[in-house]
Amino acid sequence: MRVHIKRFSLDDEIKQESVTYELEAKEQTLLAILQEIKSTQDSSLSFTSSCRSSVCGSCAMRVNGVEVLACAYKPKDGDVVEPLKNMPVIRDLVVDMDKALTCNTKAAAFSSKNSKNIALSPDDEKVNELQSDCILCGSCYSACPVYESNENFIGPFALTRSWRYVSDKREQDVDQKIEAIQKDGIWDCTLCNECVPVCPQGIAPKQDIMMLRSKSGVMGHIDPNMFGGGLDFGTPTF
Ligand code: SF4
Ligand code: SF4
Repeated sequence: MRVHIKRFSLDDEIKQESVTYELEAKEQTLLAILQEIKSTQDSSLSFTSSCRSSVCGSCAMRVNGVEVLACAYKPKDGDVVEPLKNMPVIRDLVVDMDKALTCNTKAAAFSSKNSKNIALSPDDEKVNELQSDCILCGSCYSACPVYESNENFIGPFALTRSWRYVSDKREQDVDQKIEAIQKDGIWDCTLCNECVPVCPQGIAPKQDIMMLRSKSGVMGHIDPNMFGGGLDFGTPTF
């Protein structure tokens, strides 16, 4: 079978080329194939991986334009493999996720100092159990067309994590968390759903964004797009 890998190098200047590798066809994952290429054909091929069991999220990449975890995907003859989109490529299939990860800070998507140390019931735990499973693989950022065109957009996994903490009854600073996602956040999402099918954990960031919109409305926030892109009511005359 043949696999085409889009390779990127930043050694001198950004260079991109598609390299075709031929391998014996057998039932194995894309990660196993990449490791075989590296050990038998081209030791310079660069990619990241760790757990090999869909837990760490470090081997996310795209195959035929769709985000996958290499340790879970079974390749087909002729597949085109390339790095995640919307992130700087460091080399070949390795991307720099730093900017996407800073979106968690921008969204205040973490437990605050004032959170209460109280026991949760099994039902309470179920409320955001799924969102807690995010492995920060970056697939949703790669698939998001808004993040592609607006570098300030907070983006899907940070908003999913925001909902994870906003819906946690131990959190006391929910108003601050909701405030943090008004600008470049929940209202900028187009609800296109592109982030949903690519998530290896079955998380639906779009649904979480809709929950955050609803919560924001209850807390008195308004979609600024309802007023033509701004909330300028003019200069007070008193
Ligand atoms: S639903 Fe929103 S967050 Fe998800 S890909 Fe579309 S614009 Fe991005
Ligand atoms: S929400 Fe899903 S696709 Fe996005 S980073 Fe988390 S695990 Fe990956």
